[in-house]
Amino acid sequence: MADTGHIPHALLLEGPAGVGKFALARAFAQYIHCTDRTPDGDSCGRCPSCLQHQSFNNIDTFYTFPVVKRGTAGLSTDWLPEFRQFLTDSPFMDSDRWPSLLGNVNAQPLIYVEEASALVSRLNVAARQSAYKIVLLWQPERLGEATANKLLKLIEEPYSDTLFIMTSDNPEAILPTIYSRTQRISVRAYSPAEIVDILSSQFAIDRESATIAADLADGNVNAALRMVSVDKDKSRYLDLFMSLMRLAWTRKVKELRDWSNDVAAQGREDSIRFYDYCARMIRENFILNLGHADLNMLTDEELTFSRRFSPYINIYNVEDIFRLLTEARNDVARNTNGKIVAFDLAIKMILLIKRGVEAPK
Ligand SMILES: [Zn+2]
Repeated sequence: MADTGHIPHALLLEGPAGVGKFALARAFAQYIHCTDRTPDGDSCGRCPSCLQHQSFNNIDTFYTFPVVKRGTAGLSTDWLPEFRQFLTDSPFMDSDRWPSLLGNVNAQPLIYVEEASALVSRLNVAARQSAYKIVLLWQPERLGEATANKLLKLIEEPYSDTLFIMTSDNPEAILPTIYSRTQRISVRAYSPAEIVDILSSQFAIDRESATIAADLADGNVNAALRMVSVDKDKSRYLDLFMSLMRLAWTRKVKELRDWSNDVAAQGREDSIRFYDYCARMIRENFILNLGHADLNMLTDEELTFSRRFSPYINIYNVEDIFRLLTEARNDVARNTNGKIVAFDLAIKMILLIKRGVEAPK
């Protein structure tokens, strides 16, 4: 597109989470602006424009992303240092981590209408040092109706020197008025082998841990990174997991309520990791129950508990427990009250464990 000069005015990179769509959008913007592109189709990385891109200081590039209000205004420019930090710490844009950088783990960031107004006035000025001004818009699904209407005019009747490059993991949530006016490119999930390469080369994770994480990550680098970081919190998560199962088995409802408060008190990001950990433990226990200890990936501590626990994870409950954990994880990711989610899960676990215990022998 860039080489032929036929770049659509509104481009959407869509696809699963954790596959580097925003990094690709940034690389594309850098390529468009590069004054010394290489013959094999990359930006040079050395020209003034490339250097500005790498330090987030390109004068013709605007970052727009969901924020919370600072005072009365919700503007991306007010949160640029935090966003740069986010891009540096989490190059694959783990959106579960963004609210904590906004100072509130339970925030529901949005692209506010004043952001659209600010963008309109900035885009009114002609491109300063290159052929194009580029708006890199992360999460267009977080444009409210009023914001979208303001931007729509720009997208429908764009200035000839303006490009919108948007990225979304959740394109079905984008308002149809915006979605229908974008040219879409699908970005696919990574293969497990690609994830292993990324984790070991970019995040200095040993290949053994990377292989285990990649196997369970479903093509999502962020999910793989979460699994690896679970390692650090493993014994705390194991304690919580064992308490849940013991209390559910003995039907200690009051204690399960205290347990739910403990889980929720960890905060959103940590709760998500914990539910991922529980799902992994259920999977491992099912494998153990099937008599395939050779396929297990458990620490000694986990194995000690699992030897006694695994008989109760069987074909009569394994699928429903998985579903329950996935729902809890997704509810927490969507900002549902963490205590309610955990307590609901704990109560349902009483019935599901019972179902496993009463399974025909
Ligand atoms: Zn360059």
